[in-house]
Order: sequence, then structure tokens, then C-alpha cells
Amino acid sequence: MTTPQPAASSEEEAPFGYTKGGRPRKRPLSDANREGLCPVKECQRSFRHRYGFTLISFLDGNPNIIDSQNPQQALWQHLGYYLSPLHAYFPTSQAHIEMHEKMKAESASRRLTENEKKERQKESKKKWVEKNKEKRALSLKKSNLRKKAKKELKKEGQDLTERAIEELVEKWLVQGGGQ
Ligand SMILES: [Zn+2]
Repeated sequence: MTTPQPAASSEEEAPFGYTKGGRPRKRPLSDANREGLCPVKECQRSFRHRYGFTLISFLDGNPNIIDSQNPQQALWQHLGYYLSPLHAYFPTSQAHIEMHEKMKAESASRRLTENEKKERQKESKKKWVEKNKEKRALSLKKSNLRKKAKKELKKEGQDLTERAIEELVEKWLVQGGGQ
């Protein structure tokens, strides 16, 4: 089981690897996820050399570049290797299987949190737009009612005092728009 990663990953640009969306991570995932090392204590096999190998293959024009792995991919494949019942006899098999489960769960929960965050941002922006729309609509309505009130007061031969206008506008608003 491998996670697709950008082929041009560089340790300088993304010392902590890439997110699923392809952006460089700002922080390491966790100690257990240290790039290039098997997080199983009894194992700690290193996959860092694979990256150099991949680069050399690429410079040589090796067409197998498509199958090339960065350390994180190599680690997933390494963990996946122990999932097969055929490989259950290794002393560290169980530990590798558990680590695979753990890392899979961590990555799933991280994705969930990112999605939740995006949802919340979208929701609050929507609310803000709605509120602003209401505010604008209300002020437009009030200004129209003020014009109407002035006309009405003039027609009745009353003084165009601010107070009289406001009272009329308020009355119409309470009545539901003054249509
Ligand atoms: Zn291992």
C-alpha cells in the first residue's frame, strides 16, 4: 500500500514530506512517522538510501522512474510486506502490522480534521455573506421607506420633521415592509 507523492520531492523543500494534497508538510507527522526510518522500534530499517538511488536512476534516464519510491512510500511498502500471512513468521511481523494500522488511522484522522476545518471556514463565510446581505437589504428598505414617508407627509400637508419621518418608517417596518 503506497501513497502517491510528487516525484520531485526534495528533502530541502519538504523536510517532513508531503500532505496527501501534495503540499509540503510544515511539521513532522510524529516521531513514529519520521521519514526514512521504519518506526517499529525493533526494526528501524532505513529507507533514506532509496531516495538517492531514485535520483540516480532518473539522471540515468531509467524508465523505471515511475516505480520509484521516496522514503515514505518505501516505508509503506515495507510495512505492507508484513501484512501478508506468508510473512507472519518474522519476529517483528506483529509489530509491523500494528504500526501499519496505527499510521493508517493517524493519516485518516488527519484528513478528517483538515476537512472539518475547511467546512467550518466555508460555513462562517457563508454566514457573514448572509448577514451582510440582510444588513444591506434592510438599509435599502429603510431608505426607500424614508422617501415614501416624505412624500406621504407632504401629501398630508404635515411638517417633514426627522421625527415624523422616523415614526412613519418604523410603523411601516413593524407592519411588515409598508407595501
Ligand atoms: Zn520495519
